[in-house]
Amino acid sequence: RQNAEKFEFQAEVSRLMDILINSLYSNKDIFLRELISNAADAMDKLRFLSLSDRSILGKGEQAKLEVKISLDNDKKVLKIRDRGIGMTKQELVSNLGTIAKSGTSAFLEQMQKGGDINLIGQFGVGFYSVFLVADYVEVITKNNDDKQYIWESDAGGNFAISEDPTGEQLGRGTQINIHLKEETQEYAEEGKLKELVTRYSEFIEFPIYLYSSKEVEVEAAEEEADEAAADEDVSDAEDVADEAEDEEETEEEPAKPAKKETVWEWELLNDAKPIWLRSPSDVSEEEYTKFYHAISKSTDTPMTYSHFKAEGDVEFRSLLFVPPTAPPGFLDNYYTNKAGLRLYVRRVFISDEYEDLMPRYLGFVKGVVDSDTLPLSVSRETLQQHASLKTIKKKLVRKALDMLRKLAEDDKPEEEAEGVTESDAAAGSSQKYDTFWGQYGKAIKLGVIEDGANRQRLARLLRFHTSKYPDTWTSLEDYVSRMQEDQKQIYYLAGDKEAELAKSPFLEQLLEKDLEVIFLTDAVDEYMMSNLPEYDEKKFQNAAKDDLKLGGKKGKKEKRVREAFKGLTAWWKGLLGAEAEQVKLSTRLATSPCIVSTSKYGYSANMERIMRAQAL
Ligand code: ADP
Ligand code: MG
Repeated sequence: RQNAEKFEFQAEVSRLMDILINSLYSNKDIFLRELISNAADAMDKLRFLSLSDRSILGKGEQAKLEVKISLDNDKKVLKIRDRGIGMTKQELVSNLGTIAKSGTSAFLEQMQKGGDINLIGQFGVGFYSVFLVADYVEVITKNNDDKQYIWESDAGGNFAISEDPTGEQLGRGTQINIHLKEETQEYAEEGKLKELVTRYSEFIEFPIYLYSSKEVEVEAAEEEADEAAADEDVSDAEDVADEAEDEEETEEEPAKPAKKETVWEWELLNDAKPIWLRSPSDVSEEEYTKFYHAISKSTDTPMTYSHFKAEGDVEFRSLLFVPPTAPPGFLDNYYTNKAGLRLYVRRVFISDEYEDLMPRYLGFVKGVVDSDTLPLSVSRETLQQHASLKTIKKKLVRKALDMLRKLAEDDKPEEEAEGVTESDAAAGSSQKYDTFWGQYGKAIKLGVIEDGANRQRLARLLRFHTSKYPDTWTSLEDYVSRMQEDQKQIYYLAGDKEAELAKSPFLEQLLEKDLEVIFLTDAVDEYMMSNLPEYDEKKFQNAAKDDLKLGGKKGKKEKRVREAFKGLTAWWKGLLGAEAEQVKLSTRLATSPCIVSTSKYGYSANMERIMRAQAL
């Protein structure tokens, strides 16, 4: 366009677009999902703002928050129009030219490693997927605070912005004109578009319409009839005639010759009723999975989910999912992650950055919370201070932990179950939960440290390797069930590698007495144990500490030997000086002559090693 102002894409965006426009990637379908999801986001933002100022919505057609998809006459241009918040000129420059989030490099890196373009939305650069199918794109947009602008680009490293010479006919919102590439003309088929919307965008909470054509039979005499004749029922007129003989319209004799005619109409493609408002018994497994795809911007199947309604002083509905793999950066950005559950108040989307809805360690849980109790108050900040939010959080955590407990239990082989050997059952081998543990075990451990109120619930979710079952996961419940009759404590030993632990002199007596010892090799393990003094009323005992007592009263013989070696221990202590707290005789070893242990309240050698590594 003439008089357009030219801009260069940020270098990374430019690289990303190069890759996309030249992509031979076969699944280009995802662009539609990404654009519809942006349209829905833009309408969510508008609806949220309208809570404090209704006039923002506008009147009549303008106030209808919907997405409309259409094709132009020669079927080369696909148009997607929303009545969302739109973009000001400044926003066009920054949103569609630079990256606010650090998404692109991460995404490019993933793609170079053979990653999946499908995940583009997760990296906050979904818009650019339009260049999988387009060689030229126009974004026409109108925000209440600015004029109507056109952004355009053919992906050649730059884009242009100009004021729309045709005026401001959008009123408000955004229309994207996608000029399809020669080889992606398949997206100019109504059938294809319908299929994609139903497959990928079924759960968008705004109506999505496609301008579609329909062949209808028109009776010759009515040829001149107005649009009303092209009503949906017309195509079914014959069927209706057979069944509903008493209806007026069918009284005319049907003998007149019928003629075909094409009518165009806005066809609604989705049922915008939120899935979480439905009763769990009415929602199929497949629908849950599809909904998960919609909110997670992925295509995998969730590990498990929980759909419930909380009643009482605070009412809300929620649908929670555990992703099959930990979200990228979940542990790396543990203290800065913002992404949370999608919070709605009476169906109005408020935010998905509510750290307050879930504790950090459950940050991997995806889903929605919709509350009728919270006020539709004007700002996110005041909502944050609302007392019910705390109650909601508390209940959500319980429900999430319940869901995980069920995952572990459902998965556990029944002891009587056929084909399950006794040792399998004893070791509690459970594939699904094993996978969960592999992905999220660390989060559960952090939970033990951080969430005092749910510590015992979390403890039930822990899994360990032990001296008896070094290759399968043991729960504390399993451990306790295998304890010896007079065994009072749960023994553990922490170190670098399990193979080393198994040979440790600290274990000599324990193993000799056939006592099971839990092996801890994760850096956070020992710190976690210091927060978990007991389980099922059994105290934990670190085998590396010198208060390890293995039953039996101190015998006379022991006392005598102690006396006899007093000279040696005194000499030794003198030699080590302040390096050692004390040097004493002990009965805990079987073959090794001596060990360096830690006093009850001191840091174990392993803990010191970890602290040194972290330079604490
Ligand atoms: P994300 O949606 O994760 O932010 P995208 O690349 O899909 O990343 O979109 C980038 C940004 O462009 C959005 O955050 C939004 O600000 C803006 N945007 C895209 N599409 C629209 C639209 N239809 N209406 C308003 N703003 C939009
Ligand atoms: Mg997006």
